[in-house]
Amino acid sequence: MNLSPTGARRVRTRVAPSPTGDPHVGTAYVALVNYCFARKHGGDFILRIEDTDRARSTPESERAILEALHWSGLSWDEGPDVGGPFGPYRQSDRSAIYVRYADELLASGHAFRCFCTPERLEAMRAAQRAAGQQQKYDGHCLTVSPEESARRAAAGESFVVRMKVPESGVCIVHDLARGEIPFEFSTVDMQVLLKSDGLPTYHLANVVDDHLMEITHVIRGEEWVSSAPKHLLLYEYFGWEPPALMHLPLLRNPDKSKLSKRKNPTGILFYERMGYLPEALLNFLGLLLAPAPEGQEIFGVDVLIERLDLAKISLGGPVFDAAKLDWLNGQYLRALTTDELLARTAAWGFDRTRLERIAELAKSRIERLSDLAPTAGYLFAGRLAVTKDSFAGTKLDDDVLRKALALAMWRLDAERTFDKEVVERVLKGVGETLAVKFRDLSRVYYVAMTGSATSLPLFDSMELLGRDLCRERFRVALDPFGGVSAKEQKEWMR
Ligand code: GLU
Repeated sequence: MNLSPTGARRVRTRVAPSPTGDPHVGTAYVALVNYCFARKHGGDFILRIEDTDRARSTPESERAILEALHWSGLSWDEGPDVGGPFGPYRQSDRSAIYVRYADELLASGHAFRCFCTPERLEAMRAAQRAAGQQQKYDGHCLTVSPEESARRAAAGESFVVRMKVPESGVCIVHDLARGEIPFEFSTVDMQVLLKSDGLPTYHLANVVDDHLMEITHVIRGEEWVSSAPKHLLLYEYFGWEPPALMHLPLLRNPDKSKLSKRKNPTGILFYERMGYLPEALLNFLGLLLAPAPEGQEIFGVDVLIERLDLAKISLGGPVFDAAKLDWLNGQYLRALTTDELLARTAAWGFDRTRLERIAELAKSRIERLSDLAPTAGYLFAGRLAVTKDSFAGTKLDDDVLRKALALAMWRLDAERTFDKEVVERVLKGVGETLAVKFRDLSRVYYVAMTGSATSLPLFDSMELLGRDLCRERFRVALDPFGGVSAKEQKEWMR
């Protein structure tokens, strides 16, 4: 296996996040490997925004992803914010390109128009479910002749474009770390490439862009490995050389389940708000990529670039061990000079604008200057020590209380923006859902968010704390009540 690039092709890697939520530590992890691999081989590292899912993609999420990755200290040579010779780097700005390539596949007979209605597809899936079969497109529209297909499209009938897939045979995916992974074509779906609105799916856009952007190595999460046969087929249909592929193991909770925000904070910006240093976070992620012998665990990205060996990345799920991150962060903090420590602390949470706002909120509530720090302390803290007893003064029984905390957490998560108006609307909405007077409900939120039933104004406080820290405080407050299950989430959010 030759992992180092040969020949004349310049190494080009990319990270391609979808802006459909908070910037995830998994994105930083994938970005870090791609960054280091490109640097190691004197190549380019690209950031591409994959916003083909128009219903779920938001500009707020894109902004947050860029902010979070910038904060991490990684930089990219090309991307939506820095430009570059292969742009645009946001897929929604490239729609016309994908239509051209879908047309090419139609013309070469490697794709076909599918006119099936949603009702027919639903009936098909129901029948497959009932028969215990794999759910995939049954090829109904493969029999439509090219002439009839063109005529129906011209007459304005709605259609999607699907790729053809051989009926039999095996596709071998060569993964740089996993070796050969065989996939029976009979299990590969005739993937939709272009939706009825003319916009591409992830699969078409991803392959077209990786080719046009001359990506040589695709290093991404293992959740994409089952897409690889579709992608390799597309490369073949277009007559393009596919990039080398590598699928990284997913980050895990300490109990080995997939890292999820129900159990652990997963947002990059949560770690920023908690006061971790970006170099400590990258070091921590680097240890998951290139384990170091004891005593050599503290290293910067420059060392990781040297140490990184894709073939040696352990495929057992790397555990996101928060205690290890704490230890590392402590080491980094202690290595700062006092001047540096003060500068970093000021930049983190004691900047003039934030302090002014806090002073204005606190002014009418203090008698002595010595009251200020205790009054506002929770705004500079991470997790709060709340127990069941902390909620003793509230009038709600445990069940309602749990629902009040969980609904607020989930509904705030679903909001695009997070400011005091949004917070007020959402929390009051929970009061209406639960038919609880907001005066009674707000005490619960005061305790969970500020640690006390009497604090600076709640909505302002939550805005100052930010979405990530509020979410974590909700999670911590739910803990003594046994947390909430995925099933409850589904039921309560209905
Ligand atoms: N947009 C995909 C994601 O969100 C990228 C997958 C890939 O790298 O091909 O992870």
